[in-house]
Amino acid sequence: MPLMAQIIDGKAIAAQIRHTIKTRVSERLEHGLHPPGLAVVLVGQNPASEIYVANKRKACEEVGFLSFSFDLPDTTSQVELLKLITQLNRDNSVDGILVQLPLPTHINSQAILEAIRPDKDVDGFHPYNVGRLAQRNPILRPCTPYGVMKLLENTGVDLYQQDAVVVGASNIVGRPMALELLLGGCTVTVCHRFTKNLRAQVERADIVVVAVGKPNLIPGEWVKPGAIVIDVGMNRLADGKLCGDIEFTAAAERASWITPVPGGVGPMTVAMLLHNTLFAAEELHS
Ligand code: NAP
Repeated sequence: MPLMAQIIDGKAIAAQIRHTIKTRVSERLEHGLHPPGLAVVLVGQNPASEIYVANKRKACEEVGFLSFSFDLPDTTSQVELLKLITQLNRDNSVDGILVQLPLPTHINSQAILEAIRPDKDVDGFHPYNVGRLAQRNPILRPCTPYGVMKLLENTGVDLYQQDAVVVGASNIVGRPMALELLLGGCTVTVCHRFTKNLRAQVERADIVVVAVGKPNLIPGEWVKPGAIVIDVGMNRLADGKLCGDIEFTAAAERASWITPVPGGVGPMTVAMLLHNTLFAAEELHS
């Protein structure tokens, strides 16, 4: 059976966003303003984190931002990391601070995220920023859910009154995703590992966003005909290939729009990080 769904090309949409950001940075420089600065902090040697951090730093440099790199050893204490964050909080050339997660287990991640000044919290994970989103008045928005909203906007489909189902309820994706969709006018259901009948929830969704981290958790036959399907999952298979949480080919035969993995949500996360950093420089620090 041929593919029915239109592909949401996250790679192309993210490239457009990065291009706009690059132009705005050039304009800032022409007006004698400083380039936005992003500090990226990596603790330890998690291979996946090293790749994510390298991508973020490269993207930063490509749009003309100042990129400040801090690669700290596994043995870094919480006190030492907090000291660095205090220093970055005070540094006027730094508009955004990103601490790559997960942190080593001897460090309390929540304490670190809460130490970042909310107006430099370009990941959007600080309780202040999540709270602003919950209260319908967002400032710095969590990058992955914000990126998903941009992908949905790109389909041209009106979100108002749609039934949205979010599968996964983590602090960094599922929960803020639900808040974004609520803000967008959807009626939102959030599913997690204790949800009684996941199939029934997915089957009635006009929009389904899955962020769990389990390959093919959602069979394509669960997708409501005409639904918009967003796959946030990124799973590395034994053969080295990347796949999402949704059975792509079968889902694409039923959906109206669908994101691929890779090339869907992933590039948007980095683009929205750049967007947040520029926003912090222009709106919060000028
Ligand atoms: P996480 O912190 O492990 O959260 C996973 C969530 O899925 C939890 O809320 C968990 O429920 C829920 N869950 C687990 N098993 C389930 C099941 N059988 N049915 C329904 N829900 C279930 O993961 P995460 O950080 O949110 O990331 C999720 C996926 O997205 C991963 O593959 C990650 O690599 C990917 N990701 C991609 C990007 C990107 O830029 N594309 C960004 C971030 C994450 P409980 O809360 O009950 O434990």
